[in-house]
Amino acid sequence: MSALWKSTRQCLPGGSLYLQRSSPPAALGPRQSSASTLRRRPRFPSHQSRRGLLTLAIETSCDDTCVAILEKDAAGIARLHFNERITSDNRAFGGVHPLVAVVSHTEHLAPLVRRALHALPRADEDGRTLAVDGSPRRRPDFVSVTRGPGMTSNLSTGLSMGKGLAVAWDVPLLAVNHMQAHALTPRLVGALEGERADEDEAGDSTARGTGDRGLPHQRPRFPFLSLLVSGGHTMLVRSRSLNDHAILANSPNIAVGDMLDKCARMILPAEVLSAEGSGSGMYGPVFEEFAFPGSKDAASHDYDYDYTPPTRRADEVEIFDSGHGWTLTPPLSRMGMGEAAASTYEFAGLNGQVQKLMLQHADMDVAMRRTLARATMTLAFQHLASRLVFALQSDKNKSTHDISDTEAEGQSKVQTIVLSGGVASNRFLRHVVRKMLDIRGFAYIELVAPPPSLCTDNAAMIAWTGMEMYENGWRSDLGVQALRKWPIDPGAEGGGILGASGWYRAPPTE
Ligand code: AMP
Ligand code: ZN
Repeated sequence: MSALWKSTRQCLPGGSLYLQRSSPPAALGPRQSSASTLRRRPRFPSHQSRRGLLTLAIETSCDDTCVAILEKDAAGIARLHFNERITSDNRAFGGVHPLVAVVSHTEHLAPLVRRALHALPRADEDGRTLAVDGSPRRRPDFVSVTRGPGMTSNLSTGLSMGKGLAVAWDVPLLAVNHMQAHALTPRLVGALEGERADEDEAGDSTARGTGDRGLPHQRPRFPFLSLLVSGGHTMLVRSRSLNDHAILANSPNIAVGDMLDKCARMILPAEVLSAEGSGSGMYGPVFEEFAFPGSKDAASHDYDYDYTPPTRRADEVEIFDSGHGWTLTPPLSRMGMGEAAASTYEFAGLNGQVQKLMLQHADMDVAMRRTLARATMTLAFQHLASRLVFALQSDKNKSTHDISDTEAEGQSKVQTIVLSGGVASNRFLRHVVRKMLDIRGFAYIELVAPPPSLCTDNAAMIAWTGMEMYENGWRSDLGVQALRKWPIDPGAEGGGILGASGWYRAPPTE
């Protein structure tokens, strides 16, 4: 992610968790983190607590071979000791070739695990140890590995390695869900931020009691909404608890990132396209800079987007009239916002309109192309935000009807929205979502975005998911098989994450 929008913290290499909230939350849940919880945090004197839990994690569901080592202490603060990825070369195939990816996994996984072992913390007196090149290291408390969904042979490569390590080290196996891991990633980021918050606290006494600076870990709290917007996904997910993630809206055809890339190829002037020379076909960043020149380098609040958010649903679906003989119709504008529309993202129609328009007006000047680029993004991003607003309104209504107890109501309401995936780095998207939330009565909602390095496939998120499942008492049988499909919604066929066979509860002695 190139730059921050409104950042209250910068902490992770290669990107940051950004936070943006328009005003303090109307009602914080009773256990919402705050500076005072930071001060109250116990210091955990015992050896086990101080050492925390340690896991080695493996991810091989697609074309990335990934290994991570993650530690988490009893206060919820995490440290990432190792997180590396090797991606197989599929350029010749125009997509992932399963066999090429499997060969890459078998070639790279064992050496990557070996490298990761060197990053294990040094052994202390009490812990169980491993010898790595003759020197004593802490042995992981359990092994985390992706079980599904994904390509079966690819998953099996990692699963076999994970089982082997668990057997050799005599530790539990946690065979976890890849999509659950994506959904939980913001909580990993919160836990990693906790480490920095502690450093801040030690080095800077003014950090105490300063609002967001005291929100280090165990966040976002459930429930939260995630908008996953990438080259392959457009998905709105409601995460209610560790194992309960409902897909609220999805795209039946092309993803928003794919649509923006296709529109950019048509709208960007030839000299911009050739200067960019994007062999990967990913034009998102250059398209954004073309539409809003200078916005990339502007401080988050300084850029004037000249954008007025739609105050009502009717305004959202208004046709954009350029005043120069062409118009753009917003996605699904003829559908009322019923259940079917609220659960659908549709970008093929908008893409079709842009393609047709550019074929008809191939000689469009640069100023008009910029107008079209802005209009395309505005309609696409308002479409994304409209389903978010609908979900929040439903959430609000449900909370008011179903829960009389004020305390429980505070806990049940969504307080955080996570924007993740490549398109989430678009500053105008964040601006549109923020403005729409504000004008529709959700100014208290916090927007966060994990750094892109943790939004793409990685093993750190698998380690974190293993960690949360382990702490909740779940263990995986050593006989578990890879799952090509594995929904994360407990209401889906098969019962979601816990519906898969092979889960068992940790014995009380463990
Ligand atoms: P991912 O699939 O998560 O790796 O994200 C890649 C997608 O994000 C591609 O479609 C990119 O064009 C898109 N993308 C990256 N940066 C931006 C941006 N600033 N604006 C819009 N799209 C972007
Ligand atoms: Zn993924």
